[in-house]
Amino acid sequence: MSGTRVLIAGASIAGPALAHWLTRRGAEVTVVERAPELRPGGQAVDARGVTKEVIRRMGLDSAVRAARTETAGAYTVDADGKVLETFSAEDDGGDGYISEIEILRGDLSRVLYDDTRNDVEYIFGDRIAELTQDADGVDVVLQGGERRRFDLVIGADGLHSSLRAMVFGPHERFVRHLGLALAFYTVPNEFGLGRWLMDFQEPETGRTAGLRPIPDATRAMAMFSFPAADLDVDYRDVEAQKRLLRERMTGMGWSAAQILTHLDDTPDFYLDQVAQVVMDRWSSGRVGLLGDAAFSSSPMSGQGTGLALVGAYLLAGELAAADWDPEAGFAAYEKRMRSFVEANQEIGRMHASMLIPGSDSEPPDYAGEWFTGLIDRAINGAELPDYAGVPDSGAQG
Ligand SMILES: Cc1cc2nc3c(=O)[nH]c(=O)nc-3n(C[C@H](O)[C@H](O)[C@H](O)COP(=O)(O)OP(=O)(O)OC[C@H]3O[C@@H](n4cnc5c(N)ncnc54)[C@H](O)[C@@H]3O)c2cc1C
Repeated sequence: MSGTRVLIAGASIAGPALAHWLTRRGAEVTVVERAPELRPGGQAVDARGVTKEVIRRMGLDSAVRAARTETAGAYTVDADGKVLETFSAEDDGGDGYISEIEILRGDLSRVLYDDTRNDVEYIFGDRIAELTQDADGVDVVLQGGERRRFDLVIGADGLHSSLRAMVFGPHERFVRHLGLALAFYTVPNEFGLGRWLMDFQEPETGRTAGLRPIPDATRAMAMFSFPAADLDVDYRDVEAQKRLLRERMTGMGWSAAQILTHLDDTPDFYLDQVAQVVMDRWSSGRVGLLGDAAFSSSPMSGQGTGLALVGAYLLAGELAAADWDPEAGFAAYEKRMRSFVEANQEIGRMHASMLIPGSDSEPPDYAGEWFTGLIDRAINGAELPDYAGVPDSGAQG
C-alpha cells in the first residue's frame, strides 16, 4: 500500500530524518513540532561508522560536510590553562573522541529540515493532545483543535516525550537519570579559541567546563557538566536553568567565571539532565517511538544522533518492507536496533559514572578485547539492509 499516512511528533533530528525515509518509501508524512519554529542550539553531534553510511544514502554527505565544525582535536587543560592531554580528529580513522564529521545539532536539524520541507507537511507550534487507535488507524486531536486520522504515529519527541507518556506510561518508568547535568550555549570567542576544543575537569567536584570551536570563528560553544543526582528544574524554564548553572559552577577554575558572564546575552541555551530511556518495546499497535524518545543513550555516549539517524533508516525500511504492517514492521526495526542501542547505552553509563566523584567504577581496560568489541558494536553494530525491492523515490545513481 502506498500513500500510507504517517504523523511524526518532533522536528529535531529523528523526526525529519524519518520523514526523509518514509517519503522516499512512498508514505505521506506530517510532522508536528511543539516549538514555534525549528529549534536552534545544542552542542556538536558526531557521525561515526554506520551513521556516516546512512547520511551518504540520504544524499546529504556534502550538505553535512559543508556544515561541519571542522574541529581539529581536543586539549584537556588544568586550572591555569596548561595542556595536559591532546586528542586529534584524525585518531581512530576519524571515528574517535573528536570525530571527523562533527556538526552542531541545530545545523544538522536545519539540513534535515531543508531536505524534507517541500515533500513533508510541517506543523510548528502544535502537539498531539489526544490519540485513540483502533485496528485500522489512529485518530489524533492536535492541541490547536484539528482532528486527523493517520495509519501510523511515531514519537520522535525526545527524552521527555509526551507521546511516550500518553501511550506507554509515565516517564519515571522509562527514564534513568545518570546523575549528571549538561549545559551548552554560544559565547563570543574572546578566549583565542582556534580549531581545538578545550576541556577542563575538576576531579574533586566532578565538574567540567569547556569551549569548542563552531563554524563562526567569532563565537565559541560553552560546555558545562556537573553532578546532579537531585536536579529539580523545569526542563522548559530557561531562566531557572541559568540560575542553577551559575549556582552549581560557583568557584570553578580556568575560564569558567568569564564564560558564565555571557549567560544573559547568549542567543541559545540548553541544559538537561543526562538520562537514558530504557524500554522493553518501542511500539504499541500503530504507535512507535524513535530516537531519544525510545532509546536515549544520553550525551555521554556521543551517539544519540547516530542512533536517531540509523533508527530512522531502519524504521522506514522495515515498515515499507512489511508493506506497512505495523506489527511486522516495528518488530523487525526493534530486532535490528536493540544490540546497537544497548552497546551505546552501556558506553553512556560507563562514561557518566567515571565523571561522578565517589562512584566506585573502575575505568575499563581501553586496549582490552571486551572494550574494543563494545566500541565497535556501538559504532558499527547495526546492519543496513539495502531494501532492494522496496520503493525508493530518491535512490542515488
Ligand atoms: C534544543 C536542543 C538542544 C540539544 N542539545 C544537545 C546537546 O548539546 N548535546 C547532546 O548530546 N544532545 C542534545 N540534544 C539532544 C539530541 O538532539 C538528541 O540526543 C539526538 O539528536 C536524538 O534526537 P531526537 O530527534 O530523538 O530528540 P531531540 O533532539 O530531543 O528532539 C525532540 C524534538 O521534539 C520536540 N517536542 C518535544 N515534545 C513535543 C511534543 N509533545 N510534540 C511535538 N514535538 C515535541 C522538541 O521540541 C524537539 O524539537 C538537544 C536537543 C534539543 C531539542
